[in-house]
Amino acid sequence: MKYKPADHIQDLQYFGEFGGVNPSISDSSTYTFLSAKTMFDTFEGNADGCYLYSRHTSPSNLYLGEALAAMEGTETANVAASGMGAITSALLQLCKAGDHIVSSRTIYGGTYAFLKNFAPGFNIQTSFVDITKLDVVEAAITENTKVIFCESVSNPLLEVANIEGLSKIAKKHGLILIVDNTFSPLSITPGKLGADVIIHSLTKFINGSSDTVGGVACGTQDFINALRSVNDGANMLLGPTMDSMRSASVLKNMRTLHIRMKQHSKNAMYLAHKFEEDGFRTVYPGLPSHPSHELYKTMMNPDYGFGGMLTIDVGSIDKANELMELMQERNLGYLAVSLGFYKTLFSAPGSSTSSEIPLEEQKEMGLSDGLIRFSIGLDNDIERTYKIMKDCMKEVGLLVEEKA
Ligand code: PLP
Repeated sequence: MKYKPADHIQDLQYFGEFGGVNPSISDSSTYTFLSAKTMFDTFEGNADGCYLYSRHTSPSNLYLGEALAAMEGTETANVAASGMGAITSALLQLCKAGDHIVSSRTIYGGTYAFLKNFAPGFNIQTSFVDITKLDVVEAAITENTKVIFCESVSNPLLEVANIEGLSKIAKKHGLILIVDNTFSPLSITPGKLGADVIIHSLTKFINGSSDTVGGVACGTQDFINALRSVNDGANMLLGPTMDSMRSASVLKNMRTLHIRMKQHSKNAMYLAHKFEEDGFRTVYPGLPSHPSHELYKTMMNPDYGFGGMLTIDVGSIDKANELMELMQERNLGYLAVSLGFYKTLFSAPGSSTSSEIPLEEQKEMGLSDGLIRFSIGLDNDIERTYKIMKDCMKEVGLLVEEKA
């Protein structure tokens, strides 16, 4: 079997240099060489196992990278200081002046802003398309296209990309398929479905404790070597390097990812059904009403469910704000951007994480201003959570009070 189970992280075994059950943290920015010749060879990229300088890589970053590569089933991986550090480095490694990208139009606002406003400054152009329509994706490809970019489950609309279909198109046209899998770690393994590069913002579910930003690009050894090249590697030269202390901490948190994802998914599934029954327009890939529910089922690793993200539409930004403020007051979660925390997090993407997207475009892609995005937490008693949420919804007039 080429692909190991997605929870293969549990099988990784690293010992610290003194036999510690956790690997030692490499608390150094630079490394000694026993001979000057080895230093020269290392700069030339020829001295396997030697460390050069921690912007290039460090033992702690390699440990974390290998754990993430094992999870995604890729040859190797390169960790970065943030999800954006991983995304922008990967794109700038693959695309040069004159090149073109076909990207999903529903992606994280920061990635959208990079492609729309920043990359054109380097003469890299992007066509934004409805990623769920494979014919539209293929029609957008030009002779300059180098990359197809999408999120497995998109931020914030939870559109699901047909990764196998996109991979076929990418292969047919000699393109690289980059998939940002931040919303669905373990649940979807994009590499298994044909993605070439898999990105995560580690900031979210993988680290899971909302105490740092971090990112990773998983791919072939050749691609990761290219990112790290001292001569023309985007990661090496732009320098979005994760600190070793932090990568050691993320690695430890990652060990419970499989348990957390199951609980996030279980809780989100419960609430999604309830919200839908209550009459809210609810988007969750686990609901049969989701347009890509069947597709998701064919792609998923069923043990981990449909993930922890869902959206509801409450009609207006004022109602959304009123409800979120009350839910925070009742300690149901935090009115905060980001995702993958033990507490539920909620925000209105139109005025926060997707505010980089112009209003007309938000409308066009179906991002209404009453949309609330939930990252459902690890609540042990989700029925109780729902009851309190329902009370909040009644109090702000979104649900009618039942007569006693
Ligand atoms: N990708 C997705 C899907 C995201 O939601 C985010 C952040 O919200 C990012 C990438 C960027 O990650 P970071 O904030 O770690 O740079």
